[in-house]
Amino acid sequence: MRVPLSQVAEMATYIAKNKIRPRPEWQKNLSGDDTANPFRIIHTQIPSMKAERKPHPMINKRFPLVLMLEPLHACNLTCTGCGRIREYEDSIRDRVSLEDCLKAVDECGAPVVSICGGEPFLLPDIGVMTAEILKRGRYIQLCTNGMFLVRKLKDFTPHPNLVFNVHLDGMEKNHDIAVEREGVFKQAIEGIKAAKAAGYKVFSNTTVYKETDMQEIWEMFEYLEQFKLDGHTISPGYGYSAVNDREMFLTREDVHEKFKIIDKMARRFPVVASPVYMDFLKGDRDLPCTAWGNPTYNVKGWKGPCYLITDAHHKTFEDLMTKTPWDHYGAGNDPRCQDCMVHCGYEPSSAYGINAKLGDPFKTLSWLLR
Ligand code: SF4
Repeated sequence: MRVPLSQVAEMATYIAKNKIRPRPEWQKNLSGDDTANPFRIIHTQIPSMKAERKPHPMINKRFPLVLMLEPLHACNLTCTGCGRIREYEDSIRDRVSLEDCLKAVDECGAPVVSICGGEPFLLPDIGVMTAEILKRGRYIQLCTNGMFLVRKLKDFTPHPNLVFNVHLDGMEKNHDIAVEREGVFKQAIEGIKAAKAAGYKVFSNTTVYKETDMQEIWEMFEYLEQFKLDGHTISPGYGYSAVNDREMFLTREDVHEKFKIIDKMARRFPVVASPVYMDFLKGDRDLPCTAWGNPTYNVKGWKGPCYLITDAHHKTFEDLMTKTPWDHYGAGNDPRCQDCMVHCGYEPSSAYGINAKLGDPFKTLSWLLR
């Protein structure tokens, strides 16, 4: 099974609760128009929808699913595609305290916490932070370049809700080019081996850029089979404000072309992307903005509107949810959103049921149980 039944049940309960009893303050559109439907993108593209079809009231609810927790932006590497070390250059030495990280986890309430950065293993208290978040019953994806895994494993204890998500953008030569240092691939593999031997869950985490050869990613997944990884996350590297002056990033059309192979990959390897998200990648349906689903907390506060675009940093999660003009974002509303296919491990759009098709629940269920 890709996802344990207990996790599927807990997520389903959380989603159902938030749909049945949504927080009214989070559902308001600041522009005042179109109050029934926060997804202006839908009728931007299908004008008839507004007049004739109102989305089911259970669908249009805003609530967080995955907290993107960035306790620091410092990293031991300077990966070519990393926006964080560039956007947050002026605060690169700053860190969110353990206390503030836990406060953010409590304030937000999202069932999944993705600890990213920066390189979280540079934090001396990363083991304690992880244990404290697990105590709160959350699922953790700990994103890392894998270089400190061997050394730092002693700070952790294996837990069914903890996954180490190790960055690998290709086979040895190309991964080392992408992270701008020789030897990183080898060290990451040593980390993966050590973590698996110690009983941890491990995913690989791949970003696809313009120059990525999907055949090489296939080969990499084949190579990784010997280590019995628990999953592969794979997402497109799209241009956004902090990085989009660079030619390596994919346009929406490029993404569809690159990810033509994704169904075949997912049949062969344990790819952690739901069938609905794969439809978005292939261009089989429109991907709406669900920025509130992946709130980001970092050294400057709650980053709004999303992981990619920074228009404000809010002091509280409540401010992020109530003061962000959510209806102003998304492809068709804001040019910066044009190529976005944001993917943070759990695809909010599929969980929210937006642009749903008949049969989606069965498709998703059979994928989860496979
Ligand atoms: S870049 Fe735009 S479409 Fe993507 S999550 Fe952010 S606000 Fe939404």
